[in-house]
Amino acid sequence: MVGNLPEVIPVRDDLRALEGYHSPQVDVRVRLNTNESPLPPPDAWRDALAAELSRVEWHRYPDRRATELREAIAQMHGVTADMVFAANGSNEVLQTILLTYAGAGRTVATFEPTYQMHAQIARVVGSSVVEGERDADFSLDPAEMRRVVESARPHVTFLTSPNNPTGLVEPAERVDQLLQLGAGLVVVDEAYAQFADWSALSMLDEQRPLVVTRTFSKTWSMAGIRLGYVIGPTWFISELDKVVLPYHLDVAKQIAGRLALRFVDDMDERVRLIVAERERLAAAMRGMAIDVTPSGANFILFRPRSVSGRGLWQGLLDRSVLVRDCSSWPRLANCLRVTVGTPDENNAFLTALDEVLTGDDVVDRSTPDPSANDPSTKAPS
Ligand code: PMP
Repeated sequence: MVGNLPEVIPVRDDLRALEGYHSPQVDVRVRLNTNESPLPPPDAWRDALAAELSRVEWHRYPDRRATELREAIAQMHGVTADMVFAANGSNEVLQTILLTYAGAGRTVATFEPTYQMHAQIARVVGSSVVEGERDADFSLDPAEMRRVVESARPHVTFLTSPNNPTGLVEPAERVDQLLQLGAGLVVVDEAYAQFADWSALSMLDEQRPLVVTRTFSKTWSMAGIRLGYVIGPTWFISELDKVVLPYHLDVAKQIAGRLALRFVDDMDERVRLIVAERERLAAAMRGMAIDVTPSGANFILFRPRSVSGRGLWQGLLDRSVLVRDCSSWPRLANCLRVTVGTPDENNAFLTALDEVLTGDDVVDRSTPDPSANDPSTKAPS
């Protein structure tokens, strides 16, 4: 072998500084860190899937256009099938959008803090990323939107509603303002929209550069299947169809997604449970010396007032409760994010939270960092 292979075959210069997306998993009793559904899909869905899978012609390629799945999704949303594109998780949908409309020499705008994969995928496909800043309460100032759009002239601009990791729902007028400003293709990532009371789907129009992405990973209790989709104008969807790899959606996934849509009522019921639990959790946490960001999603971002975020995270982990530690991420000093679980899991979380906050075993009781929203606070991962 000649020398050290990574030196002989160097990675692309622009990828060298990227760190990748990390979501550490630890073996715990109560896992509330990745925003999945706490409940499995309905048994009747499992049975229907098993029955259809037993009849699959496995030696054949799947339907390349995923026709039946697209039709079922279109029908649910009251649009036509040529307004729907599906892929392996909404992450692959986002990647396909960015491969098609961003890429080398183009610019993508985000408003931070937000879902890290928007900027990450944009960079991987070779685009420049311009990061706008949210206010200290994580809301988005129209003046900042104007500054970013007028200075960067982005080809693609992301809004996430409800936003991850803050949980805030973006008002409809922000989407409208971005469109008025000419922010390129406006992508509203609605991975958590069913938990909120507003969706940008009602704003879609063949004459507007606006698209909305959704996932089966949360409401549909199907994070394991990896399925997401985007709804947008027909001219947009047909460009994505040119870019995506042939047969990218396997036959099992197409069936699983199509069958899931027969269980809308079961899923609505789960959403109601999670929303009710979210409100119960938020109310309990507000009574505990914690700053709670209002959430329209299936998770809550919070910041303890009397202990450090890292110390609290460790205290919860010591009690076998795992939440997401955002405390070292840029603009999120001392913040943690908890996914809403089953009532039992939420009770276990609240008990552990109370114990840690009122007990005397938190290693780091230093008061929260005053640079809470300082964008220069760099995340290690
Ligand atoms: N968008 C947002 C805002 C998310 O939080 C996530 C999942 N964490 C995704 C997209 C990706 O979802 P999927 O599982 O469909 O790839």
